[in-house]
Amino acid sequence: MRLKLETFVYYTDLGRRFRFAVLDLDRSLDYPANFVCLLPTKIYNEGKVNNGFFKIFGDKSSEQAKLLLTKALKGEDDPEVKAEIKRRLTLLEPKQECKIKCSACGKLFQPQHARRFKNNFCEKCRKKKFRSDSDASTPT
Ligand SMILES: [Zn+2]
Repeated sequence: MRLKLETFVYYTDLGRRFRFAVLDLDRSLDYPANFVCLLPTKIYNEGKVNNGFFKIFGDKSSEQAKLLLTKALKGEDDPEVKAEIKRRLTLLEPKQECKIKCSACGKLFQPQHARRFKNNFCEKCRKKKFRSDSDASTPT
């Protein structure tokens, strides 16, 4: 596959909007024969993946999307399209708010599971806590 991102501009009441299509130049040089899929704004939408892009690229989706967008950015002159590409690239970055602060040592850490912890202890402190809990002869 020789992939390329193609920008489609369309107009709404809110102004210009952009859509990015993934094309495979090995398939054909002419659109739409080389159309693979659309590049979704968000590949992972709240844990759900339901887009053609993910179906094709799977675990490599983020990586592939970043690659395509970075390449497209270099060849782009339109400042609005550039801004949109940069926005899309930011959306691909892992979420920072996943990090939580440990209640014991104050260190920021990434919880290993998506669910919320009742106690915000980092792994180190949690191990320490469990160990001292089991060592303690009196309940706390
Ligand atoms: Zn800690």
